[in-house]
Amino acid sequence: MTIGFEITAAVAALAALAIYVVVHQRKRTRENARAQADLDAWKLRLEQDLKRARDERNRLLDALGDAFLLVDDHGYIRFANSAARQLFGDRDLSDRPVREAFVDPRLAASVLRCLETGESIQSRVVLPQQTSPRGDQETRGLNAWIVDAARMDEDSIGGASTRIVIRDVTSEHQTEQIRKDFVANASHELRTPMAIINGYLENLLDDDMVEEPAMARRFLTVMRKHAERISRIVEDMLVISRLESGEAAALKVEPFRFRSCINDVIERLESLIQSQNARIDVRMDDEKLLLQGDRFYWTQVLFNLVENALKQNPHPGLRIEIGLEAAGSNHRIWVADNGIGIPSADLAHIFRRFYRVEKHHSQQEIKGTGLGLSIVKRAVEAHGGTITVNSVPGRETKFLMTVPREPAPAEEPAA
Ligand code: ATP
Ligand code: MG
Repeated sequence: MTIGFEITAAVAALAALAIYVVVHQRKRTRENARAQADLDAWKLRLEQDLKRARDERNRLLDALGDAFLLVDDHGYIRFANSAARQLFGDRDLSDRPVREAFVDPRLAASVLRCLETGESIQSRVVLPQQTSPRGDQETRGLNAWIVDAARMDEDSIGGASTRIVIRDVTSEHQTEQIRKDFVANASHELRTPMAIINGYLENLLDDDMVEEPAMARRFLTVMRKHAERISRIVEDMLVISRLESGEAAALKVEPFRFRSCINDVIERLESLIQSQNARIDVRMDDEKLLLQGDRFYWTQVLFNLVENALKQNPHPGLRIEIGLEAAGSNHRIWVADNGIGIPSADLAHIFRRFYRVEKHHSQQEIKGTGLGLSIVKRAVEAHGGTITVNSVPGRETKFLMTVPREPAPAEEPAA
């Protein structure tokens, strides 16, 4: 009896234990499953956060105006922002070697040197248009970039260890080039008349020519001509720099009769017009028309254009037309002549400072400095207008300016 009871008790205890184990195990399995689910959810959230952070970083880098790239130790591109992709013709740059992606070796050189040596490298690369990384044909001559490559201090980002910034400095490069050219050309232009004046002075003083009044007078006349030339060059350069500096915004804009401006120009050039037997026609619907602008600069614009036509065509029979007409909210002003014209190859350049059409000057003495048209262009632009030129040699050469009737104040040029 006792034995039977003990067995029953033992079985009951075992059963209870078994039930306990099963219940406990189920509980543990449930808890594990919950913990796993929590872990998965956490992982997912982490991945989503990471993706969001990465997208945000990429958006920020895409907002940069400069091209930005991350490169790994083997020279493979790991990241390229939108400016970088654009720079390389919208090509996909990811996982491509720098050497291959940066089409031109001159552009890749500083990056590769930084990768090899670990040194930070900044270099200016100037490439002619044909080899621009864009691979397309640009109309301007040269493109310039600052390539800045440096190793990153922290642990590599996504396998990348070097960052590259490429800044397009083409317009700064061009401005600098223009300034250099201007100084070089101006000194060159001033040197000739200075040398002539010095030569004559030497003759007068050292060779005692002063004692011979007829000869001395002849020398002095030549010297005066060259001194006048120097004055004109200096004056023209001052006008250009005034128009290019903030002073353009300080144009004295007031209404004036355009016709009286034309009369002044014809009067100043009267002797040349007479001696060349040239004819000047004025085309204006309303001779009393008032133009809003700076009378001083408009007189200079017309003077330079009419003087050019006369200077380039000394033969008789030249006809020059000066015209003005209203066109919507603009005025159209033109100066046209029927002279020798401008070869089409030169047309794109004649507004550049010191540019002269070689063909016009080679046989005879130099007729000018090449500053007249650049003054014309600056003055028209300072009035908010534009100027174009068309030329059919022997038939018509026409400078056409379009200016707003109410000129807006000129913008301050960028510093
Ligand atoms: P500057 O005006 O400084 O005394 P320039 O007359 O030589 O010198 P621009 O007025 O700038 O200089 O003109 C540039 C060149 O364009 C001239 O040298 C000339 O070759 C050409 N040119 C300008 N206007 C005419 C024209 N109406 N017909 C033919 N050639 C012209
Ligand atoms: Mg001129």
